[in-house]
Amino acid sequence: MATRDNIDLFMEGEKMEKTKWGFEPAFVEWLEGVYKDLHRHPELGMDVPWTTKYIRDEAAKLGVLPEENGLDVGAVFVIKGSQPGPVLALRADCDALPIEEAAPVEWKSQIPGKMHACGHDLNTTVMLGVLKTVIEQKLPEKMKGTLKFFFQPGEETLEGAKALIEHGALENPNVDIVLVSHGDADLHVGEVGVFREFSHANSDEFRIELRGKGGHGARPHQTQDVIIAGSRIVEAVQTIVSRELDARDAAVISVCEFHAGTAMNIIPSVARLTGTVRTLKKEVQSLVMKRMKETVDSVAALHGVDAQFEYLVGCPSCPIDDTAEDLIRAAAGKALGTENVKELKTRMGGEDFAFYAQLRQAGTMRLGITPQGETRRPSTHSPLFRPDLEALQAGAAVFVQLVKDYLL
Ligand SMILES: [Zn+2]
Ligand SMILES: [Zn+2]
Repeated sequence: MATRDNIDLFMEGEKMEKTKWGFEPAFVEWLEGVYKDLHRHPELGMDVPWTTKYIRDEAAKLGVLPEENGLDVGAVFVIKGSQPGPVLALRADCDALPIEEAAPVEWKSQIPGKMHACGHDLNTTVMLGVLKTVIEQKLPEKMKGTLKFFFQPGEETLEGAKALIEHGALENPNVDIVLVSHGDADLHVGEVGVFREFSHANSDEFRIELRGKGGHGARPHQTQDVIIAGSRIVEAVQTIVSRELDARDAAVISVCEFHAGTAMNIIPSVARLTGTVRTLKKEVQSLVMKRMKETVDSVAALHGVDAQFEYLVGCPSCPIDDTAEDLIRAAAGKALGTENVKELKTRMGGEDFAFYAQLRQAGTMRLGITPQGETRRPSTHSPLFRPDLEALQAGAAVFVQLVKDYLL
């Protein structure tokens, strides 16, 4: 019932009350609206025209125009402070995945077969929220230094960071520190994760092709059995990690495909194996590469089959700079409480943010997206991926605080 008392309360609440993350209700409505718009329009890889226009339009409403860098996808914005100082870049990725959405949300993907299942719509919305706050609070008038925003396509395809770097994103003005935020279902809303040394691993791929003389399954002595040779290779490469690397150096070798044969009584003449190698340090990566080739060649020779070994270096590992990561620790501590800043273990997955981290001081933050009190929500790359919308505010609160800490 609408009594006078609760009408007054309601009106006062509308006008005055900020959310627990320190934002006006109108800002939160805008933030969630942006997220839902982006979520409904997922696009893949470097082919993100709708998303690009949306990001550029939102920035234009704030009077911010993209750098003319020769790229017609994504956007780089440069916000100069009134005084000289360091250059901080905040990166958000904006591409989606080729997955049919199954999450029970009313803002479901409107594009069949595509979904923001890694939460890059969330990452983009957080950084657009930071941009909007910085402009609306007139921070550039007081800033000592420059703030850059990288809205980057092609993270999932590992093309985007390279493209932005090639088109000068880290230059003019030269970036000192580059930071990133990514949603994480292992953390609750209001919690963030930080790293030491490395946040992500070198993510490489290998392909092995074995060729031998196939023949009748009843007469193996007349053949060179690629299945036996392949099986020995699967086992032998595991001892590179367990017997040849220092136990304190992380590495993973996983054979993930093994294709051979067409019938139960034919020894095939070809076997193909593929897999992935994850390492952190360059020297470990080089050693694994060398020993895998030697192992494949010698096992193949032992069984009299021909082997072709290809090692494809992929996304580099992501080194974490202590100074950069401490900015996140401090800002997140202030915005969310130090008890909500969780020290995480290095992830053996890849992240193309690493291409920036190889060139500049870099820091990574994982942003909690599972609602408080709920068990873990489906992880990224799941068709059920569904971040809690409060995460948008938590993420923006941390990075607004960080900009103030570092540039004011
Ligand atoms: Zn992903
Ligand atoms: Zn991602």
